[in-house]
Amino acid sequence: MIDLRSDTLTQPTEGMKRAMYMAELGDDVYGEDLPTKSLEAYVSALFALPYAVFCPSGTMANQIALGVNTRPRDEVICAAKSHIYCYEGGAWASLSAVSLRLIASETGKITAKDVQDNINADDVHFPRTAMVALENTVNRGGGCYYTASEVADIQKICQQNNLKLHVDGARIFNALLASGESPSAHGQLLDSLSVCLSKGLGAPVGSLLLLKDAAAHKEARRMRKILGGGMRQIGMLAAAGLYALQNQIERLREDHQSAKDIANLLQKLPFVQSVMPCYTNIVLFDIAPAYGSGKQFVDYLGSQGVKASFIGGQQVRFVTHLNLKPADFSVLEAVLERFAV
Ligand SMILES: *Cc1c(COP(=O)(O)O)cnc(C)c1O
Repeated sequence: MIDLRSDTLTQPTEGMKRAMYMAELGDDVYGEDLPTKSLEAYVSALFALPYAVFCPSGTMANQIALGVNTRPRDEVICAAKSHIYCYEGGAWASLSAVSLRLIASETGKITAKDVQDNINADDVHFPRTAMVALENTVNRGGGCYYTASEVADIQKICQQNNLKLHVDGARIFNALLASGESPSAHGQLLDSLSVCLSKGLGAPVGSLLLLKDAAAHKEARRMRKILGGGMRQIGMLAAAGLYALQNQIERLREDHQSAKDIANLLQKLPFVQSVMPCYTNIVLFDIAPAYGSGKQFVDYLGSQGVKASFIGGQQVRFVTHLNLKPADFSVLEAVLERFAV
């Protein structure tokens, strides 16, 4: 089986398992789990955001960010293709009682102008615009990314209008490797940032929510507890995350290269109608309707031992990650070339 559905499917490496085994454990609800404290301090320093909360998932980290950056009935500006809107079960409505102002865009990126144009006037008719949420890299945008200067343009508008700025950085390290920018160049612009350890970094579980201010940090720990995310001896998971951050970031470049190779190959195949520009580790492409639907194509791949994600309509997604072996790519190539002959 070759599994290209997601970079969440990665298994811990041997070094990571050793780090997990050696972890010294305490109760993190009491603030006594040392590996968790080390992990939080390490990521905080990396991104120049002073506070961090280790969360069981990226979804929880994003939803806590919405909770601490808004009040009920506020509005949040984000892309219609954002994970917060598409893939978090509508939690924004129930957990934080906010509305989302959705910006349509092909790439799933939004601009400073989009933000400016969608801020509500201070009028009792309108929800109060309180926050902007970006995604970096953009999952539904084929892994495209924001540079620090693009984020800075948006941050300027946020500052002028008293809006909080959050980045869903589930794949922020993919963005940083592709742009060559530093974590702090991004972190210093933000009120909050979620960072996923269990995507391409290869840890089994966990995301960090990073925060700029102390009051938001206190509130975030409270909200995490309420959501059932106060965890006890989680040092094993924190140790895995720290190991990933210290040893498995540079390796993401290999994923980017293999994704580019796959995208180039797809471009040459007659049954592929279009391939989104490939910047990081995600390849999004459309099957030409004459060859069936995206779902039919994914079923074909499955029958040949290749798992892929059906996104909708004609669209299919491959994600490259650390558990793919060089030999997998030649098998994939053969499976693709056999389709529709
Ligand atoms: C995977 C992902 C998340 C978080 O997902 P969890 O499965 O809840 O950890 C958040 N945002 C984006 C863009 C993602 O791809």
